Amino acid sequence: MNEQDLNLYIGNNINKIRKIIEDTCKRVGRDSKEVMLLAVSKTKPIDYIKSAINKEQRVFGENKVQEILDKYEHNLDVSWHMIGHLQTNKVKYIVDKVDLIHSVESLKLANTINKEAQKKNVVCDILVEVNVAEEDSKFGINIEECETFIRQISELPNIRVRGLMTIAPFVDNPEENRVHFRKLKEVFVDINNKNIHNVNMDVLSMGMSNDYEVAIEEGSTIVRVGTGIFGVR
Ligand SMILES: *Cc1c(COP(=O)(O)O)cnc(C)c1O
Repeated sequence: MNEQDLNLYIGNNINKIRKIIEDTCKRVGRDSKEVMLLAVSKTKPIDYIKSAINKEQRVFGENKVQEILDKYEHNLDVSWHMIGHLQTNKVKYIVDKVDLIHSVESLKLANTINKEAQKKNVVCDILVEVNVAEEDSKFGINIEECETFIRQISELPNIRVRGLMTIAPFVDNPEENRVHFRKLKEVFVDINNKNIHNVNMDVLSMGMSNDYEVAIEEGSTIVRVGTGIFGVR
């Protein structure tokens, strides 16, 4: 696609998704300012990101450390979120470059993020990844372990637990994921009500291209949309 076509294509997609977010929020009595659209740009070249920036999109999600580093080099005026599985030995490369890590699912990883954040004198915002549907193929802690895990990592001074994230199962009918989104929201509210020292969660990252409407209806505050904005990968 040439630059003009790409701008048009991505611009239209973003407009369409913003409108759906707006309409969905209205339908369930939510303020659409509570819902952030995270543009998942993994595997897509920098031109695609620039087209989204032309539409005032400012927050991008990536799932590979090397790709974040490559794209970070371009010095775009945007914010990066790490949404993919993160190996402890790579934490040091991105801890001061991303504004939110969505995928914290082990004590070892949390400790490493804390340690590397300390070295760089930053506090790192993180989400705990929860495997709500308990799929063997997915990373994430189980719902029952959530509170204990959060209590443990809440002690780490250079980490701030901002909320929960889930990758719901791949389904044909997004309604099938409603039960999982509802469950995660429940856990989110429950844990917040425990008044754990240092834990004040305000982010619920759930919903992707095929199920973000349902996720918003169930309380999502970040929807992670890749295909819907940039096309198939
Ligand atoms: C790729 C990815 C997405 C976006 O998926 P789409 O179906 O393309 O919207 C969202 N979240 C995570 C963690 C991903 O890896």
